[in-house]
Amino acid sequence: MTPRLALLILPLLLSSAPAMADPLADQVRADLPSLMNIYRDFHSNPELSMQETRSAAKLAAEARRLGFEVTTGVGKTGVVAVMRNGPGPVVLLRADMDALPVVEQTNLPFASRVRATSVTGVESGVMHACGHDTHMTSWIGTARRMAAMKNEWSGTLVMIAQPGEEIGVGAEAMLKDGLYTRFPKPTHAIAYHDAASLPAGVIGYTPGYALANVDSVDILVHGVGGHGAYPHTTKDPIVLASRIVMALQTLVSREIDPQQPSVVTVGSFHAGAKHNIISDEATMLLTVRSYTDETRRILLDGIQRIVRGEAIAAGIPEDKMPKVTIRDAEHTPATFNTEKLTTSTAALFTSRFGADRVRRTPAVMGGEDFSRYWIADKSIESLIFWVGGVPKDKWEATGGDPAKLPSLHSPFWAPDAQAVIETATEAMVTAAMGVLGKG
Ligand SMILES: [Zn+2]
Ligand SMILES: [Zn+2]
Repeated sequence: MTPRLALLILPLLLSSAPAMADPLADQVRADLPSLMNIYRDFHSNPELSMQETRSAAKLAAEARRLGFEVTTGVGKTGVVAVMRNGPGPVVLLRADMDALPVVEQTNLPFASRVRATSVTGVESGVMHACGHDTHMTSWIGTARRMAAMKNEWSGTLVMIAQPGEEIGVGAEAMLKDGLYTRFPKPTHAIAYHDAASLPAGVIGYTPGYALANVDSVDILVHGVGGHGAYPHTTKDPIVLASRIVMALQTLVSREIDPQQPSVVTVGSFHAGAKHNIISDEATMLLTVRSYTDETRRILLDGIQRIVRGEAIAAGIPEDKMPKVTIRDAEHTPATFNTEKLTTSTAALFTSRFGADRVRRTPAVMGGEDFSRYWIADKSIESLIFWVGGVPKDKWEATGGDPAKLPSLHSPFWAPDAQAVIETATEAMVTAAMGVLGKG
């Protein structure tokens, strides 16, 4: 075909697309200019965890306008929007609202210049570096479609906007504030997350365990400080802590079943102040990841045993044993996608988007407190899926190599937001209709 002929024929080919009537895709596309305005507003005005008041107010106002019964302040800043529409299942759709303490470096015209102080008192730049702005925007897109399609479904829709995902406390806060008692309790819970490891508009799903148990562990190693020239008069906590770091490596390599994924990472190691002083303490901060409860238990018990054992080997007296603190309040349990909902929704996605846009993806070692909605009642069918956000040109230029692409939480993460929002809105409506649709 000559280029000239192609120019003539291409628009004809493209314009023939609507012949396959797809009202949902058409309606989402028609709503995109409005949704992109909302997205840019969310992106320019990010809020840190448990401080999402402006975002919550926007979502609540939109849901009210659409006829949902809206309750705000659930779990501090969470929003619950309920639409009762006859007998049937109760579907919970969740978006998270919080941004991160990251100084944005995307150079987008609507990049955030916001600075704020976190609940732990640290002041920093704030950025939607995890893409929760796309989640909130498609939450609105989904609410609009579900309200408009009310005569096509029966049941109850519970749309929630959750605070504090990044610090792992928001889902728990909403549940503790009566999410399952003050509001209709879900039979199905569905969410998505934008993905920095998939090309824009491609959906990923993982049956079974999809995201990991995340535990944070602090280790404080005591020693006996002294002069660097007279080590025999000291108990050097740096040498002991180094031994502990090395011994911890055998947990994953020698104590965990090789079929069970796990990670023990010492992410922070601090001790000492000067060349010639042996410090009297060393501190380490660890992240510990797993999928099953059993693997988690082996790792956490093993850390405590190794720390104590190495201290004994180093001759540390009983009253100076290292202190291991497992930060239970920050624990995020593993996220599990139940088989029935995952299989049926993946089939719907494949028929809507085509097999080239729907992939089964491996589980990841990241964490998500979406897990809590299922753990609170395991009779609930639950699914979280991925919607790729890597702009097509970047994906092709790098061959999708994760080492060459910004990850989630990067100050450079600039997804193809339009592709994420369009795909995610269609996907969330499709998933909800798969459960609630009249047929
Ligand atoms: Zn995140
Ligand atoms: Zn996130």
